[in-house]
Amino acid sequence: MSDEADCIFCKIAAGEIPSMKVLEDGQSIAFLDINPLAEGHVLLIPKNHFETLDEMSPDLVAAVTAHLPPLVAAVTRVAGAEGCNVLQNNGRASGQVVPHVHFHVIPRRAGDSLGYRWPAGSYAAGRAEQMHAALQQTLGELM
Ligand code: 5GP
Ligand code: ZN
Repeated sequence: MSDEADCIFCKIAAGEIPSMKVLEDGQSIAFLDINPLAEGHVLLIPKNHFETLDEMSPDLVAAVTAHLPPLVAAVTRVAGAEGCNVLQNNGRASGQVVPHVHFHVIPRRAGDSLGYRWPAGSYAAGRAEQMHAALQQTLGELM
């Protein structure tokens, strides 16, 4: 786990550095992204430090993500958007830069320049069955 003392989002959660908050409760805050992909781009975070989603308890994830429906509605409406992406990166390989769990809520319009489609693959013969079995077994161990 990264050092919480150096974590920019822990400092925002503690009020040690300023942010433009749009909601706050005991476990969560949401605030404007300082470098928005579109106007109204918001980040939703747990107040406590977790680097990736799998470090959080299901109950805490549920409490934090309960804010997503009104956030999606408000961001979309206020930005005058036609939809929005909810994006959450885990680990540097996924594109995560700030190592404190956060959900991006990004307003979208048809024809904007942000893009979305990633190159999809396909399974070699038998590989989907292997992945299916491995995922079922691992989830059985984790849940
Ligand atoms: P990531 O790439 O880790 O998924 O996203 C990190 C996000 O945090 C970026 O969109 C970046 O603009 C935003 N960000 C980084 N530092 C700050 C900051 O100090 N304040 C705010 N409001 N957003 C930040
Ligand atoms: Zn943190």
